[in-house]
Amino acid sequence: MLYLLIDLDRTLWDFDGNADRTYKAMFEQFGLEQLCHVDFNTFHERYRQINDVLWEAYRNGTVTKEQLSLRRFSYTLAAFGCDSNSPDIIRLSLRMADYYVIEGTKQTGLMPGTRDLLEWLSKQKDRFSLSVITNGFSEAQIPKMRTSGIDRYFSHFFLSEDLGFMKPDRRFFEAVIHQLNVPASQCLVIGDDYRVDIAGAQSVGIPQVWYNPKSVALPAGMPRPTFEISHLSQLKALL
Ligand SMILES: [Mg+2]
Repeated sequence: MLYLLIDLDRTLWDFDGNADRTYKAMFEQFGLEQLCHVDFNTFHERYRQINDVLWEAYRNGTVTKEQLSLRRFSYTLAAFGCDSNSPDIIRLSLRMADYYVIEGTKQTGLMPGTRDLLEWLSKQKDRFSLSVITNGFSEAQIPKMRTSGIDRYFSHFFLSEDLGFMKPDRRFFEAVIHQLNVPASQCLVIGDDYRVDIAGAQSVGIPQVWYNPKSVALPAGMPRPTFEISHLSQLKALL
């Protein structure tokens, strides 16, 4: 039995496409063009930069989930002239945070080949056990999988908020192996983020498949993943 440990966002669930749609609806819903005097693309690009920095800080434990949830919106509003300390802007940021998570989980876009791969794997239950490994917010990840109809393929859901550690922390992967009660060599991590998924798996000796659809360069000085693919359909040949 091979234990497949599969990342969710940007590996199975089309995070970027789904987030774009949600964000665009939010931008209109909250009248942000009028409030910030900025077009959607400029606002969204700035949000992405701010969100990436805050997520890194969240992974490192220097900001809390609540701070991340609020600040990614309040800091973006501040970047376009709003006072991020004013009660009105804090209230607006909180409403945006709720909207973004709730509406985001209603999106169903998947990465190319996701459903086909999961169907193929699920027909071989004696060969493969499927688990999700994700750092995303618990209240978003399970509903997302349910809405897009992929939750039923998985026997285990390993969420960082439940485990108390986030990828790439080796303790996240150790907790997964421990709960599955299998050796690292019997697992295979599949993920799109080299530093989060692949480096994390390497640190505990789990073989890895780097799903790299945009052909990002291997980070300098880092070891090659066990396998690299650019489309999920290529996974079948490896297994
Ligand atoms: Mg990912």
